[in-house]
Amino acid sequence: MWFRRDLRVDDHPALATAAERGRVVALWVADPALLGAPHHRAPVRLRFMRACLEALDSALAERGIRLVVRSGEPAEVVPGVAREAGADLVMITPDVTPYARRRDGAVADALGAGGVGLQAVGGPWRVPPSELAGSKGTGYLVFTPFWRAWDQVPVDPRIAPPDALAGPELASEGLTMLPDGDPPIAAGPDAARARLEEFIRSGAVDRYGDDRDMLADDGTSHLSADLRMGVLSPSQVGRAIGAERGLPASRTPFWRQLAWRDFYAHHMDRHPEVAEGALKPAYRAMEWDDDPALLAAWREGRTGFPLCDAGMRQMRETGWMHNRARMVAASVLVKDLLVDWRHGEAEFMRRLVDGDPANNNGGWQWTAGTGTDAAPYFRVFNPVLQAKRFDPTGAYVRRWVPELVNVPDRFIHEPWRMDDATQEEAGCVIGRDYPAPVVDHSVRRDEAIARYKDADARHAARLEAAA
Ligand SMILES: Cc1cc2nc3c(=O)[nH]c(=O)nc-3n(C[C@H](O)[C@H](O)[C@H](O)COP(=O)(O)OP(=O)(O)OC[C@H]3O[C@@H](n4cnc5c(N)ncnc54)[C@H](O)[C@@H]3O)c2cc1C
Repeated sequence: MWFRRDLRVDDHPALATAAERGRVVALWVADPALLGAPHHRAPVRLRFMRACLEALDSALAERGIRLVVRSGEPAEVVPGVAREAGADLVMITPDVTPYARRRDGAVADALGAGGVGLQAVGGPWRVPPSELAGSKGTGYLVFTPFWRAWDQVPVDPRIAPPDALAGPELASEGLTMLPDGDPPIAAGPDAARARLEEFIRSGAVDRYGDDRDMLADDGTSHLSADLRMGVLSPSQVGRAIGAERGLPASRTPFWRQLAWRDFYAHHMDRHPEVAEGALKPAYRAMEWDDDPALLAAWREGRTGFPLCDAGMRQMRETGWMHNRARMVAASVLVKDLLVDWRHGEAEFMRRLVDGDPANNNGGWQWTAGTGTDAAPYFRVFNPVLQAKRFDPTGAYVRRWVPELVNVPDRFIHEPWRMDDATQEEAGCVIGRDYPAPVVDHSVRRDEAIARYKDADARHAARLEAAA
């Protein structure tokens, strides 16, 4: 059993299949292509992953085997370990990224040359893409019909963890190639289960529809990193909230939100090209400014737009950012600073404990208006109005941008509007203690719309010329 982003023993179809067949070696490969890739060099996520792998090793040890860790190119390491173990089959949970698919193809070929099979069972999603092909058989580009179809698919029954596992004892390198130190949140299936249970017990799951956008309330589940590493499966979440018995209406908003995760995974599975650029061809040739000074201001949380800065600082300090802040920060980068969304996507991957290629790419393309439905380019978030609506008292902004802590409520989201005396009184002089907005939102909004329109026009002209 080759573990990747399915670091659990419970509700694990591939591990259960391996255990049913007989003796099992549990393998995790430290792949230099992944660990060395800029997108994956995220200390916060690697620390979390290491702690999840340690928890997996403990769960396996309770059942009689240990996790075997090896570093190297998977197409060499996996067949090598299969040979050492005398295995005739390697089990995996499939993954959706273009890299994962290339890697698994190469591993399948290398194993096949030695007469060993590679079998993929289960998936990081709740419903496999093949079950939701849509009316044309090509999947869904729009979320609402996807959600309706997804919601109709019953939740799978639990697959119990194997009681006992046995297999040859192979040498293991240990996890020293991963950074140690405390992960930002407790890691492993027990911690994930505790988070899920508290989310349900406290009633937060039932209030989710009302609270999820309110930035200062901790109204969301914080399960994203658990789902990212697969210490928790989406079906486990579904069963815990009662989705297989008919969900109470109060829990539907949360269940629907979880469907976005499958939506983006299906999307990347069917359209792997999104990993490189815009899904919509017209926007592949967008003109961006990519001003390094503006990009640095955004990264460091000093754009002068308090909500955007609060979100970016929350992510830098904790490895997590509220979804509403992610949307606003992403919108500011793309539509106000006119920076290619792929710079933002990369920055999020380097900082987020839940950084997930499909979800992150989907979130960025959604915000940039270059991907799936719903966010046409001319609908541009106004960072001040968003802040007034979703952080009405400014509590979220004050938590993460301490320079603004004494700014009066009515100026908290537009501190540049304070007169000189109020700035002095609040201990926040604009330009000295906190920046003025690095750009004028209304000017840049018009400029962004013009650039998108221009990209559309150039694309239409190219199509016409080719016709
Ligand atoms: C620009 C941008 C980038 C993002 N990057 C990531 C990322 O790298 N990894 C990631 O897991 N999520 C990403 N999201 C989605 C979302 O912000 C996070 O999943 C959510 O904030 C995690 O907090 P939570 O677990 O408390 O979520 P909850 O609100 O409690 O939702 C439950 C679960 O549903 C899934 N989910 C919720 N919203 C979304 C969504 N919009 N898209 C996909 N899945 C969703 C997550 O797995 C989440 O844990 C991104 C969103 C945006 C706008």
